[in-house]
Amino acid sequence: MNRVFLVPVFVSIFAIQAAWVVYTQNAKPPGPLRIEKVKGELYMISGEGGNVAVYVTSEGVVLVDDMFDRNHADILAQVKSVTDRPLKYVLNTHQHDDHAGGDLKMLLIAEVIAHRNARANLVHIRQPYYEDTPGTPIGLPRITFSDETSVFLGGQEVRAKYFGRGHTNGDAVIFFPDLGVIHTGDLFLGRRAGRGGSPAQTRPPGVNIYVDYAQGGSFLEWTRTLDGVLTLTFDTVIPGHGPVSTKDDVVKFRADLETMRNRLAGMVRQGQPKTEVLKTLETDYGWRSTGCPPGPPTAGCLQFQQSDAMIAELRQ
Ligand SMILES: [Zn+2]
Repeated sequence: MNRVFLVPVFVSIFAIQAAWVVYTQNAKPPGPLRIEKVKGELYMISGEGGNVAVYVTSEGVVLVDDMFDRNHADILAQVKSVTDRPLKYVLNTHQHDDHAGGDLKMLLIAEVIAHRNARANLVHIRQPYYEDTPGTPIGLPRITFSDETSVFLGGQEVRAKYFGRGHTNGDAVIFFPDLGVIHTGDLFLGRRAGRGGSPAQTRPPGVNIYVDYAQGGSFLEWTRTLDGVLTLTFDTVIPGHGPVSTKDDVVKFRADLETMRNRLAGMVRQGQPKTEVLKTLETDYGWRSTGCPPGPPTAGCLQFQQSDAMIAELRQ
């Protein structure tokens, strides 16, 4: 027997088994989902992971994103509660597992479309599952686009646009031109109102953003990307996370992002030590920096774990 040949085979079988054991040990039960009407025949499913858009046309259904792998059956049940028409297309806003984690199962029943960089990240990095689903099998979209593509179904158009880097280097914004609605993925995050009518937040803005440098994200370019998004004609926004929002909310988010970025870049360029930058991120923006391991990607520690890359970019 050829030992040189056998060793890599055994190693790879072991790696697959190890990944499966990690996945099955860590697999969470799915959380409950709900569906609400956004406008016309457009709905939003929320409750766990990223928001899913459901667009019902006379010829079938177009989804934007498909949450975690574990949410697949409930997503189909939520769609079924508003229409009997078949699911035809799924557009991914990006490759993170809370948005595109259901792709493998969706590929069996629909066409999945993503930006070419999102697919390339899935192929080359093989770690889209950065939070709590390590080892989940990856589903690769069969169709990609560079700048723009459209799905035409039942006389309606759903347009996917790429405006540049931000949350990752493959963030698609999905535009429903007949309705004046966009789905932003994680380029924009909605803010929930505070309890009892109190202000939605007490910390300075920008608290929730995550620049995924490992997958091509950019804090410096994010606002320019949002400037492109704001050239579209829309009044209603399905954010990556959070409640249905307005164009004004995106304008404010962009301004807040710029203020936060300029403040942090100022600290870095003045030569303030990393500990000071991290302290500001923790106290003023809620980015947890203490008690976090350097890796692997850990829920609650994602921003901190890429703070070196962020500081390096802000120094430019
Ligand atoms: Zn994301």
